Amino acid sequence: MTIPFSIELYPPAHTGASVQLAAALPRLMALGPEYFSVTYGAGGSTRERTVELVEQLQHAGVPVAPHLSAIGAGRDEVRALLTHYRELGLTRLFALRGDAPSGMGGRGNFAYASDLVRFIRDEAGSELEIAVAAYPEGHPQAKSPAADLAALKAKQDAGANLAVTQYFFNADAFLHLRDQCARTGIVLPLVPGILPLTRYSGTARLAEARGIELPRWIARKLMNLGDDTTAVREFGLEVTTRLCERLIAEGVPALHFFSLNRAGAVEALCQRLGLGAMSPVAN
Ligand SMILES: Cc1cc2nc3c(=O)[nH]c(=O)nc-3n(C[C@H](O)[C@H](O)[C@H](O)COP(=O)(O)OP(=O)(O)OC[C@H]3O[C@@H](n4cnc5c(N)ncnc54)[C@H](O)[C@@H]3O)c2cc1C
Repeated sequence: MTIPFSIELYPPAHTGASVQLAAALPRLMALGPEYFSVTYGAGGSTRERTVELVEQLQHAGVPVAPHLSAIGAGRDEVRALLTHYRELGLTRLFALRGDAPSGMGGRGNFAYASDLVRFIRDEAGSELEIAVAAYPEGHPQAKSPAADLAALKAKQDAGANLAVTQYFFNADAFLHLRDQCARTGIVLPLVPGILPLTRYSGTARLAEARGIELPRWIARKLMNLGDDTTAVREFGLEVTTRLCERLIAEGVPALHFFSLNRAGAVEALCQRLGLGAMSPVAN
């Protein structure tokens, strides 16, 4: 069984990162994702670079969904971006709140992602597909799980079409969120965000900061494998493959891979899962 998948990229900030992306992009494109998404720094910090990468992909004939973040954004700025994206022929985008860089506060017209979704929907009409974020283990700033669900419902009511989740390593968290959505009238397709597990310390640190559980047995095993990068990658691939297999068996509509602008892990994962151009049918 094969399902659609999308791949998230970030706009490179320096020459080394551009070289890395240039090497990864043809390989990621060859996998045949449904679309690429391109992140947007909060406060517009990557605006030019996001637009540049979006244009590059669109001109290469690859479907692309730009992200847009609410924090620090003004109505005129968002309107101008929407016009530009419409002229490029884009049909989908991601609307996020973003996280305020330290020292930045108060600027901008949108307090929450739902405010941005409503504005985009009003400006762009019904054609545009708007994706929003959801959190299987809760957003770190949410007052309660119920408040988090209410925030997702507000994004649906404002006109979002689908939700892509923060990454997670525990399938039950995602399945619980899906059940909760069904109980509270949230009918948005819920697409799991998948971070291919390739290393220990950086992953553990970021997961901790974002309130994501790295299960103890996985952390212990990775720690135990230490500097054996081949063994770490193989174990990470096995864990991520199993997670995806379970989610596919549970009937998720698609997968969204956080590639970190690298091709190897996503390629290996697609191969194990038989996805896209790696699917036995396509070969
Ligand atoms: C798939 C994905 C892609 C992402 N891409 C980007 C990106 O490109 N750029 C970027 O800067 N960040 C990105 N992020 C990170 C995201 O911006 C942060 O997680 C941010 O902290 C929350 O964004 P949100 O859109 O979920 O915000 P919101 O939905 O606005 O929620 C933020 C917090 O406010 C609460 N809340 C919402 N509405 C209300 C309300 N009316 N009253 C009180 N509380 C409320 C929520 O419970 C939550 O705790 C991404 C996240 C995901 C999962």
